[in-house]
Amino acid sequence: MNFSKRTTTCGALRASDVGKEVILNGWVHRVRNHGALQFINLRDRYGITQVVLDDDSSEDLKNMGQSLKMEYCIAVTGIVRKRPDSMVNDKMPTGEIEVKAEKIELLSRCATLPFMIDEENSANEDLRLKYRFLDLRCGGMQSRIRLRHEFIKAIREFLYTKDFYEIETPTLIRSTPEGARDFLVPSRKYAGKFYALPQSPQLYKQLLMVSGFDKYFQIARCYRDEDARGDRQLEFTQLDVEMSFVQRDDVLSLMEELFVDVFKKVMNYDLPAHFRRIDYFDAMNTYGTDKPDLRFGLEIKDISEIVKKSGFEAYKTILSEGGCVKAIVAPASHNHTTDAKGKTAELLTRKYIDSISETAKTYGADFVPFIKVSCAPASEGTADSAKYVLSGSGAKYFSGLENELCEALGAGNGDTIFMVSHKVWKKACVSAGAIRSRLGHDMGLIQPGFAFCWIVDFPLFEYNEDEGHWEAAHHMFSMPQAKYIPTLEENPGEVRGDLYDMVCNGYECASGSIRIHDVELQKRIFRICNFSDEEAEKKFGFLLNAFKFGPPPHGGIAPGIDRLVMIMSEQNSIKEAIAFPKNSFAVSPMDDCPNDVDAKQLEELHLIIKEDKK
Ligand code: ASP
Repeated sequence: MNFSKRTTTCGALRASDVGKEVILNGWVHRVRNHGALQFINLRDRYGITQVVLDDDSSEDLKNMGQSLKMEYCIAVTGIVRKRPDSMVNDKMPTGEIEVKAEKIELLSRCATLPFMIDEENSANEDLRLKYRFLDLRCGGMQSRIRLRHEFIKAIREFLYTKDFYEIETPTLIRSTPEGARDFLVPSRKYAGKFYALPQSPQLYKQLLMVSGFDKYFQIARCYRDEDARGDRQLEFTQLDVEMSFVQRDDVLSLMEELFVDVFKKVMNYDLPAHFRRIDYFDAMNTYGTDKPDLRFGLEIKDISEIVKKSGFEAYKTILSEGGCVKAIVAPASHNHTTDAKGKTAELLTRKYIDSISETAKTYGADFVPFIKVSCAPASEGTADSAKYVLSGSGAKYFSGLENELCEALGAGNGDTIFMVSHKVWKKACVSAGAIRSRLGHDMGLIQPGFAFCWIVDFPLFEYNEDEGHWEAAHHMFSMPQAKYIPTLEENPGEVRGDLYDMVCNGYECASGSIRIHDVELQKRIFRICNFSDEEAEKKFGFLLNAFKFGPPPHGGIAPGIDRLVMIMSEQNSIKEAIAFPKNSFAVSPMDDCPNDVDAKQLEELHLIIKEDKK
């Protein structure tokens, strides 16, 4: 097809280009007819340029202009001219100029649009995904895909300067348990045998260390056959990193340097040179989660010792069963909401307080008493012991302990204290964490920006109640901390690993560890995780074999690209950071995937579909 090829883009022209003849190719964003004048906003991925048809334009050109509809693809040849002063648009980078059209060629028409191509698309998710190719034309998706590209580019540039090799690992691998369920690919050539798609390149990157490639990275696609949850996808992208001859702090420092550099380049945002490091147990106790949002304070405190002295019998029973009591203070200063019209109202109404209890209960807390604090004015000459007056469902239990409770919590006049308890420490923490997170959002305490931290020293094992055995909290290749190694088997629950997670704004965005590089230690870990020596040999024999050949000490990490782009672009779903994601039911409405396949294909793969497949 012959057409006038663009000489510039729709985002490039400025006042200095006035007088030039240009050709633009793009899509009709909007058309406005003002009698003799006709304006066409022409869009491409670089921006929007206003094209004008004047009174003196030829009839043919005017007719062509009249026939244009939204999202028609056209070529415009014309002269750049300055807009009249009254029409200069400061909000558009090209707002000082317009292109007076001399010729318009229709490159293709556009069918009736399922939604408007706008800044953000408010259509429902399935419609957006069915027409993803159009959804991607919207401003928000265009800028997020650009951000993703720039992010990955900056990562690559940084790692190249640090002497990392970018090495691809296979996507058809043997099925090896790594924590999640594998996606399997049936082999045509070997009836009844399967390849698996990698849950991550974990074992390959460790093998690359054995091969001597001491600094490796890859922008790696990972596949996990998990039920679709909030911000998870069946396939996602990681920056996969592995390094030899390193200890934990080497990996952490490299990542800090990388993110400082990349955030500056891509977002012009200054991150601190070092991210706070928080012990796993401290994170759980203080924030009620191992992915704390540090954009606000609202720290959780343990009040078990005060409760022991109180009249709170139900809580005392929980304490005697080995539990704990946590408290969190909602500050009076933020006890209000503001609606769209700017009208403010009290936030902590009885109804809201009840809803907070409900939130905590979904995480295990039995009941969630609250206490409102008021301070008797000093002028009344109140004795110190009665400085704080408590009311609310939990107040009566703390008679005589008002001062101690409020001082321990730093609670003051008008503040509201929420309490949670559970006989299982972790459940008490996460229930309190759920309250913290709701209050943080609802009270408007969240500061703008990016709050990174490291969570370190995680427990190495978790007990799988359903299956009745220990399993790796991260994966089975992570190194236990040295002091636990002699007695690993005695109490696996106490063992801490050389494990670390990078967290930003309440999301886990990377996890990694120093790895085991000793055959015997690796076998002990397999045994604790319920793999017999024979089974371990069958499943991981190739790794154990490689470890016989001088493996170097090594460790690594894998930041999630999708999630980081989501955070950087202030979105709540990773679908907003991926060009072609699946919907919440793991389906792609655009190409209707997953789909049935031909009987011939099944036969070649030696597969028979059971009748009751539905
Ligand atoms: N391979 C791990 C994962 O995908 C991350 C790591 O330890 O490097 O979760």
